[in-house]
Order: sequence, then structure tokens, then C-alpha cells
Amino acid sequence: MTRPITIALAGNPNAGKTSLFNHLTGARAHVGNYPGVTVETKQGTVHYHQHQIQVVDLPGTYSLTAYSMEELVARNYILNERPDLVVDVVDAANLERNLYLALQFMEIGVPVVIALNMMDVAEARGLKIDVERLSELLGVAVVPTVARDRRGLDQLLDTVVRQAKQCPAWTPKHIRYGPDLDIKINEISSLLAEGDFQRDQIPIRWLAVKILEGDQEIIKMLDREPTRAKKIKNLVVEVTRHLRATLDDEPEGVIADHRYGYITSLTKQTVAVDRNNRQSVSDKIDLLVLNRLIGPFLLLAVLYAVYQFTFLISEWPVAWFEFFFAWLGDLARMIIPDGPVQSLIASGIIDGVGGVLGFVPLIAVMFFAIAILEDSGYMARIAFMMDRIMRTFGLHGNSVLALMIGGGISGGCAVPGVMAARTLRDPKERLATILVTPFMNCGAKLPIFVVLIAAFFAGSRAGMMFLLTILAWGLAFISARILRWTILKGEHTPFVMELPPYRMPTFKGLLIHAWERIWQYIKKAGTVILAISIIIWAMMTYPGLPADLARVFDFQKNQIEKELFFSPAAAVLPDRSSLDAFNRYLADQDTAPTPPSHEPFHILARAIMNARDGQAATSDLTSPYQEAARAYLRYRSLQAELDAASRQAQLRHSFAGRIGLALEGLTRPLGFDWRTNIALVGGFAAKEVIIATLGTAYSLSDTDDQTTDDSLSKKLASEPGWNARVAFILMLFVIMYSPCFVTLVTIAREAGWKWALFSMTYTTSLAYVVCLIVSVASRSLGF
Ligand code: GDP
Ligand code: MG
Repeated sequence: MTRPITIALAGNPNAGKTSLFNHLTGARAHVGNYPGVTVETKQGTVHYHQHQIQVVDLPGTYSLTAYSMEELVARNYILNERPDLVVDVVDAANLERNLYLALQFMEIGVPVVIALNMMDVAEARGLKIDVERLSELLGVAVVPTVARDRRGLDQLLDTVVRQAKQCPAWTPKHIRYGPDLDIKINEISSLLAEGDFQRDQIPIRWLAVKILEGDQEIIKMLDREPTRAKKIKNLVVEVTRHLRATLDDEPEGVIADHRYGYITSLTKQTVAVDRNNRQSVSDKIDLLVLNRLIGPFLLLAVLYAVYQFTFLISEWPVAWFEFFFAWLGDLARMIIPDGPVQSLIASGIIDGVGGVLGFVPLIAVMFFAIAILEDSGYMARIAFMMDRIMRTFGLHGNSVLALMIGGGISGGCAVPGVMAARTLRDPKERLATILVTPFMNCGAKLPIFVVLIAAFFAGSRAGMMFLLTILAWGLAFISARILRWTILKGEHTPFVMELPPYRMPTFKGLLIHAWERIWQYIKKAGTVILAISIIIWAMMTYPGLPADLARVFDFQKNQIEKELFFSPAAAVLPDRSSLDAFNRYLADQDTAPTPPSHEPFHILARAIMNARDGQAATSDLTSPYQEAARAYLRYRSLQAELDAASRQAQLRHSFAGRIGLALEGLTRPLGFDWRTNIALVGGFAAKEVIIATLGTAYSLSDTDDQTTDDSLSKKLASEPGWNARVAFILMLFVIMYSPCFVTLVTIAREAGWKWALFSMTYTTSLAYVVCLIVSVASRSLGF
């Protein structure tokens, strides 16, 4: 005789509990009341082979909240008496409703065996339940029974004995309750874990969920630690207010939605659809949205629509923002005297941070579109559909979430994405997910794409964005498959993705959800990106031109001036001081025309304007003035060229320039010049820096002072080294190459530095090899 096993029989009323109990115990029951309450308790004993099994009949309940006495009794019995197993009697003919209770036991973590009762009724109704799959997805044993006819009872007892002998530890199931609640659940859990609530052996996360559900019994427990209780209650108030504002619902409602969402998803995968069943609106929509043929096309169409919408709506605001920052830069150049301070503020900070902030309207629209997908419930469907594909590539359904957060649609961030992989229990699946999440197109990569698309693929912006998204996913999938075939070989663990019902998003809710993310983006631009921009500016500015080279430029500058003083312009501009005066006069004319202060200046200025505009000579301008104007313009263009050459030389000699040049040997086959290399090296720090640095590099080395207020797109489009092919390869490289520094730190924290380093080298080598192949192939195909 071995140790007696205690099992608790639980289930919805009328699921067949009493029938089961009577058949098991031979109706020899000890009937009594639970202490202090009028809820009946029955206990009995079963002798099965050499085992003695104590059976406790719990009151029939639909859930485990503290609303009714029955529910409270059932729950407290589980928590306080800790039976070896709960045998949950589930009515197979009403699977969805009955699984709600099963799920609650699983969330507590007590080992569960499901007696899938009323199988005869289910069959009569034409329901086909894939019991094996159900068991696999739930992660608990499921035994089909017909309690009334004693069918399946021996299998049930076999299973009970087998499970109980293993003495399984309590493993609470984690249901996801949506991004808003999940964050708060984690925060409350860590507050609880700090306290001595661990002592009760009640799973912390379950406590946190119960507190959010407003469970008074549990909330009373908090009073043991008033200060911590206050913090927790504040969090609850906060998230309640947030959910009311965004989803027009209480935490309790959202939690129930997600539990049913889990069950919906479960039954969709295990029960053959029965047309006679009453279907909710959500079920009807899902019939179409999750259809094996229509679903994927709809998904692609939605993605395309998101990009089209984003570009369409944000086109003008982005242009205004760009214009504003260009104007701000010009303003800084005008009011701050030439020198390092001007350069720091105009080229370093305004071009750098402004280059990132300039995309706020686009990011905002994108986040708004994503909020629509999330708040409506469609995002969960995307994940549900992707789950099938995930498995093919050795990933887990939970990986979808990490990838989506990392920027699956574009505009996410790999840091929370990598952290989201925590929900994966299997270490190998988790690592594979962590390693491929940075391939997604995060919010920082987006501006790079937008600039390059505007410059080289303006005709098909949404189409290109769409292609880049597909590429990112494709690369993530292929990498995952390779990793799972090689260093991360292992089993696949089953998974159920919650499918909460569809909701009509509210405009206010969308605004709040979008704003939360936009604010993150702005904050990062104002802090991290600002700091990195300044460092990179310094690296691009110092140590400056070597003395001998500086002398050469000075000498040439003097030569050009001398030429002017000996040209036909000499009559008006005989020396340096008159030249300076004239330059100032001309600059004033451009901004605020002043009455002629000096007759020859006035005439020369008019001649210059005419010549610049290519107008035929006006009769009152005599030919000496026209010749003088031509000489002056020649001087100006020579001087501009010399300035540009000197700035180029200065940039090349800077610390960053040297790094960029040193890498050129490696990157020339890809078509990246040294300035792109600087930007890419900067991208190791943060991907936003790529666009900021390109902006700085091209403003520092501007070849023509007429174009300072042009956008970076226009500059790149007119640069000789740039074309659509190079731009495409650069985008491809940016998708793949090393995660940014913060992501690497996160990977290190989640998986260790070994994997962070692996991630950095693996992705960068992959980026290089893939881009090299694309480059060589496209060149030989004649693009
Ligand atoms: P309880 O409320 O969970 O204790 O459920 P009962 O054991 O009292 O069962 C409710 C009704 O369902 C009774 O009339 C049982 O005879 C019937 N019943 C129990 N199990 C089955 C089953 O597997 N198949 C069918 N067809 N009826 C069952
Ligand atoms: Mg009963």
C-alpha cells in the first residue's frame, strides 16, 4: 500500500460530478458540511489496484471568484488543502462554458486531470473533439468519459494514479490579458513577491490577477502590509482608469474576455465546427478572418492598407516637420557665429535629433493604425494565424507576440520584444525567438526606410514598405529554422493564443494607446539619441584638418580671391574689405532688400541677379557690369567648391571619417561609401542614429551651399554614389545587422552575454553575406 492519494472532484453544476462520484465510490459517501457554511461536502474512498484514493466532492461552480459561497469553498479547499489532483468534470457538450472553470484551476496551478464527460451527448450533437490535441494544447491529461454508463472510469483512475505518483509541482498557467494589464500584473506581482505573500504558497501571479479582478477576499489579505497594499491599490486604480478610457471596460471584463479568448482559440483548434451551435458575432467574423484561404490574403491586404494609410496621411505633416527642422538649422547657422558651437548645434543637435523627431508624424500615424489593429482584436487574430507558420519554422506561438512587439508590422521595439519571449517556457524556443526578434522593423529603422524610399522608390512607397516587412519576417523565419536545426535543436511545445472577442475601438482609446508609444519615441530622441548625436558629431568634427592641408586650402582660397581682384569686377571690388561689404550687401538683398547705399554695389547686384536667373541683358546695364557679375559668380562657385572640398577633407580626417574609410574596403562591394559606414557604425548604438548621422554627414560635407535646406532624401537622390540598388541593399543590411546596444544588453540580461555576442556577430555576418549576394547578383543581372 502506498501513500493515499487525495483528489478533488470539481465541475460545473450538471456536468456529471455526482454520477462520477457515486460510480467511483460506490455511493459510500460521508456527507457533511464545510466548516461554518451550509455547503454540503461529500467524501469517499476508492480502492484501485494497490492505491487508496480519497475523493472529495467540491460544490459545483462555474468559476472561482469569491462571489458565491460555493465558489469560495471550492477555491479555499484547493488553496488550503492542496489536494494531489483536481479532477475537473467537463461537460463535452458545453465545452466552452465548462473550460472556463478548468482554466481557473490551471491558472492557480494545481495539477488537473480533465474528465471529458457527456461524450455520448457531444457525439449525438455531431461534435467532433480532438481529445489528444486538446490535452496537448492544455498541457493536462484529458480522459473522455460517460459517467452515467461508467464508461472511461478505469482510464480516468489509471490517469489519476499515474499523475499523482509523479507528484507534479504546481505550475500556474499564464494567460495573457493584453498589453495594458500584463504590465500591471507584472508590477503587482513583483510588489507581492517583495512582501511575505510567498509564504502562503499561493502563486503570486494568480494573486495579482485576482486583485485586478477586484476579489475582496484576496484584497483583504493585503492589509497585512499596509504600505505595499497602498502601492498595489494605486496600480489597480491607475490601470482601471486607463482601461476605462481606452477600452471602455473594467479590468474584470478584460480579464474574462481574454480567458474566453483562450478557450475560443482552443476549441477552434480541437472541435470540428458545428453549424447548429449558436454563434456570437465574433465567431461569425472569425469564420471569415481566420479562414484558411481568405485569412492570409486579408492579413496581407490589411498590412498593405496600414502602410498606404500611414504614408498618405503623414506625407504633408512630415514635409512640414522636415521644413521646420531645416529652417531651425538655418536659423542656428545665421544667429550663431561660425565655429564649433554653431556646428554642434546646427549639424550635431538639430540635424541629428531633428532628423529623428522629423518622423514623429509618420510614427504617430503608424502607431495609430497599429492601435486600431490591437484595440479591435485583430492583432490577436494575426498572431493566431501566424502560429501555424511559426511551428513550421521551429518557433512557438508565443514567439509571434515577441516578433509583433519587436516591430512585426513596423514601429515596435526589440527590447520589449525580447522581454516578451519570457512567456516561452522551452529554453530553446525562447532563445530562437530572442535571436530573431531584432530582425523585425522597429520604430528606429522606420525613418531610414522612409528616407530611402522617398529618395529612390517614391512611386511605390507602401509597396516597398510591405516588401521590407515580408523580408524581415522571411529572414526571421529562415534564421529561426536554421537555429532550430543546428545549435537550438529540440522539441516543439504546444500553445494556445488568446482570441478575445472583437471590440469597436473608441477614438479616445486609440489616441491614448498611440500616444503612449509616440511619447516613448520622442523621449528617446530627446535623451539617448541626443547624447549619441553629440558624441558622433564630435567624432565627425575632430581632430579637424591637419595643419598642412589647412594651409593648402587657405592658399587656394586666397588665390581665388586674388583672381577676382584682377578680374573685370576689380572696378567695384578691388580688395578684401570691399568684397566683404559687398557680400553682406548681397545677403541683405536676399532677405530684406535695402535701398541702395552704394550705387555700384546696387548695379552689380542687379547684374548678378540677372545673370544668375539667366536673363538676357537689360538695356540699362552696361557690359562692364555684366562681365563683373560673371566674374563674381565664378568666384562664388569656385569658393563653394573649395569649401565643400575642405569640409569633405575635414570629415575624412575626423575620427569617424577614418573609421568609415577604413571600412570602405569591406563595404565597397555592397555600394556603401565611408559616410554610410559612419552611419552604420553609429547604428550599433541606436538605429535612429543611422538617419541622424547620414543627415549630419551630408550636411557637414555639403557640396553646394544652395541645398542646405533640402531634405536628406533629395540630397541622397542627387549624390553620385547613390542609386536605387544601393538604397535597397542598405535597407536590407539595416533590417539584419546587429541589434542596437540596448537590445544587446537586454539579450544579455535574458540569456547571458554569450548569446548577446553571438547575436551581434551572427546578425552582422548574415547581413553582410546576404547583402553581398544581392549586390553581386543584382549587378550581374544588370540593375
Ligand atoms: P452534477 O450536477 O455535476 O453532480 O451532475 P449529475 O451527476 O447530477 O448529472 C446530471 C445529469 O446528467 C444526471 O441526470 C445524470 O444522469 C446525467 N449524466 C451524468 N453523466 C452523464 C453522461 O456522461 N452522459 C449522459 N448522457 N448523461 C449523464
Ligand atoms: Mg451533484
